[in-house]
Amino acid sequence: MTLHPADESFANHLRSLLPAEVLRPVEPRYLSEPRGRWTGQAGVLALPRSTEEVARLIRAAGTKRVPVLPYGGGTGLVGGQVMPEGPAPLLISLERMNRIRGIYPQENVVVAEAGCILADVQSAAGDAGRLFPLSLASEGSCRIGGNLATNAGGVGVLRYGNARDLCLGLEAVLPNGEIWSGLTRLRKDNTGYDLRNLLIGSEGTLGIITAAALKLFPQPGSQGTALLTVRDPQAALDLLALARGQVGEGVSAFELIHRQSFDFLAETLPHLRQPLDPVPEWSVLVELGLSGGLDAVTALEALFEAAVEAELVIDGVVAQSEAQRGALWSLREHIPEANRRIGSISSHDVSLPLSELPAFIQRGQEAVSAMGPFRINCFGHLGDGNLHYNLFPPKGRDRSDYAVQATELKRLVHDLVHDFGGSVSAEHGIGRFKTGDLQRYGDPAKLAAMRAIKTALDPAGIMNPGAVLA
Ligand code: FAD
Repeated sequence: MTLHPADESFANHLRSLLPAEVLRPVEPRYLSEPRGRWTGQAGVLALPRSTEEVARLIRAAGTKRVPVLPYGGGTGLVGGQVMPEGPAPLLISLERMNRIRGIYPQENVVVAEAGCILADVQSAAGDAGRLFPLSLASEGSCRIGGNLATNAGGVGVLRYGNARDLCLGLEAVLPNGEIWSGLTRLRKDNTGYDLRNLLIGSEGTLGIITAAALKLFPQPGSQGTALLTVRDPQAALDLLALARGQVGEGVSAFELIHRQSFDFLAETLPHLRQPLDPVPEWSVLVELGLSGGLDAVTALEALFEAAVEAELVIDGVVAQSEAQRGALWSLREHIPEANRRIGSISSHDVSLPLSELPAFIQRGQEAVSAMGPFRINCFGHLGDGNLHYNLFPPKGRDRSDYAVQATELKRLVHDLVHDFGGSVSAEHGIGRFKTGDLQRYGDPAKLAAMRAIKTALDPAGIMNPGAVLA
């Protein structure tokens, strides 16, 4: 079906339906994305304040056949939030829908509007003596609606699950402009198809999430963080098993870091001090969160000792203060920024069955080296089998020198991931960046079902056209 641009006459139509202050001039920040791959088009920008206003906007877009682009914090890494081609969209930013509608400490539930910044939801939970465990380096800017629309992961997935696992209910506006009030706080609700899980991870292609009921957890009484040098990725996996054997569910993060990450940090952000000398080839950032009077620092020291004895760990530091914990986490959280400053040729957010990780890393190293002296920065949420596997030009060269090889390198890495039974998008989604990969590696029956669902819910194709299903 032909779509029409969100132009001045459409803006005038919206002005007749909504308070004047809902429409705003399109600022450049709405048209860029963190990796600078695309620049979006300026159509009409709307900042609704209520679910009813979102519904009115969607109904108007449906009537006039105008594409709609939902917008959260703009931190998505696969270009779902920018529309570089086709008719210019109606961009709907949820940023003014940023109220915590209710917090229920006894139930361990918070109900937040989609425009709430993730860090604000974490703070609201903390003020109520609870923990909202979704945690990403972008948490100061990404918004709950975006987190759910991308099914975000981050460092807490190992223990608490991803955004999907943390959501009990949703309120959303569907492509026909109907409001779905599914904001249940129930933990058990087997009443038909699971619309909530359909919308989570749909990247704005099946509707706009306007609010969510989210799970909270007790705050751990004691938290501790260590950076431990491991022999190799297999030793890192063995260390994870050892840690779980010692403290069970108390392992709340387990992040693998290759030396390349520290080299990039030293080159681009030298004020961030790396505590181990010499810089290890492989290390793991381990976080424990313990309750019941157990002390996380003591438990980490015991783990360190046992791991050295088992010849899994060579060296390490256990943070002895909150400041030291913060400094260790700061290293991990700045790796994406250091990568951005160096400039990758090709970045991959992949997941693999845990036991296949060491062989994948080994085979990847061999295959990439055979194509040239590229620098590989391999780091990520090892406990979830999720690696960020990013390829950079040799030192002194620019990524633009390798534009031709970029596609080949991406194909090489993704083919390898696929051969190992992995996923080419672990936590960032498909967006516009990976639509080709979804076609190439996706199961045909699943793709056909996805198209059928899209057509049934959004027959005019107004919701984020070009994302997920090209
Ligand atoms: P946006 O970027 O605004 O939008 C993302 C997608 O969701 C788009 O398709 C958009 O149309 C859609 N969308 C947004 N809001 C809504 C809504 N209310 N209803 C329906 N659709 C909507 N991701 C991880 O998973 N794990 C990480 O560890 C991680 N670390 C990151 C670190 C950095 C430094 C950066 C820049 C990004 C990182 N990301 C990570 C990616 C990004 O932060 C997440 O994908 C995040 O969930 C996106 O949220 P957002 O609000 O910024 O969404």
